[in-house]
Amino acid sequence: NSPSTYRGRFAPSPSGPLHLGSLVAAVGSYLHAKSHQGKWLVRIEDIDPPREMPGATDIILHTLEQHGLYWDEAIRYQSKQSDLYEYHLELLQKQSVTYYCNCTRKLIQQRGGHYHGYCRDRHLTAEGCSLRFKNLAPINYFTDMLQGNIAADQAFSHEDFILKRKDGLYAYHLAVVSDDTDQQINHIVRGSDLLQPTACQLALYQQLKLPQPQYLHLPVVVTKPGLKLSKQNHAPALDNNRATDNLCTVLSWLNHAPPADIANTDCEHILKWASANWLTSKLPQQIEILKAQG
Ligand code: GLU
Repeated sequence: NSPSTYRGRFAPSPSGPLHLGSLVAAVGSYLHAKSHQGKWLVRIEDIDPPREMPGATDIILHTLEQHGLYWDEAIRYQSKQSDLYEYHLELLQKQSVTYYCNCTRKLIQQRGGHYHGYCRDRHLTAEGCSLRFKNLAPINYFTDMLQGNIAADQAFSHEDFILKRKDGLYAYHLAVVSDDTDQQINHIVRGSDLLQPTACQLALYQQLKLPQPQYLHLPVVVTKPGLKLSKQNHAPALDNNRATDNLCTVLSWLNHAPPADIANTDCEHILKWASANWLTSKLPQQIEILKAQG
C-alpha cells in the first residue's frame, strides 16, 4: 500500500444483528472509501464476550453481503489480536504511562462519575486491578470532516481511562487504536455516538507517536429528540429481503437518495450510483425520523 491509499473500515460489535441505524455507518464508511478509490475492511469487535449475542457475527456478515457491501480484505476478529494489544500495552508501560487501579464503578460514581487519577500514586500491583492510562496530555480539540472543529468534553477526555479490565479483557480504546494502526486505517467513518470517545483514542495515538487517521462522524438516527435508534431501543433487525429498500432509506437519510430508475434496480447498482455521486458536503449533521422503520 502506498501511504496515500485510502483505507477505511466498518467495525461492528457482535452484540446483535444490524439495524437501520448501524446500516448508516456501514453504508457511509463503504461509500466514502469507494468514492475515494479506497479499500473497505470489516472488523468484528468481539473483545467483550459478556455483551455478545451468539450467532451475531454470522448474521452481521450475511446482512452486509445481502446488501451488496463486500469487504476488500480478510475479516479481522479482535478476539484473535491479544498479542497486538499486549504489544501496545508494553510500549505504554515502558513509557510509564500506565498504572493499576482497584476503584470500583460504585466508588467512582460516588466521587462524581469520572475517573481523574485516584490510584495514580498508590503503586498497586496487577492482582485484582484494572490497568489505566495516565492521560498526561489530554486532547481538548480535534477536527472532524463532517462535524467540524470539536471541543472535547473534558470530563471524559481528561479521564485516565482503562486499557485492560480487571477481568483481563482489553478495553475498547486500546483495541481500536491498535487495530486501526496495524491495519493502516487512515479514514474512520462511524456514528457520532463515538465522537467524544475519539478524544481518548487520539490521546493514545499521540502518546504512541502513531500517525492519526482522519475522522468523519456520521449522524446517528434519532426517532425523537435524544432517542437513538439502537439495539437497546429495540430497533428491528434489518430484513435482508428488503435490502434495496433499506439501502434507499439510508441513502435518503444521508441526502443521497438515488433516482427512481436506479432505486428500482439492485444493491450493486444502487451502491455504484451512490459512490459515483457521494459528496461529504451533502451529508446532514443530524437524522431525525418520526418512528423507527424496519
Ligand atoms: N465496535 C464499535 C461499535 O459497534 C465501533 C467502533 C468504531 O467504529 O470505532 O459501536
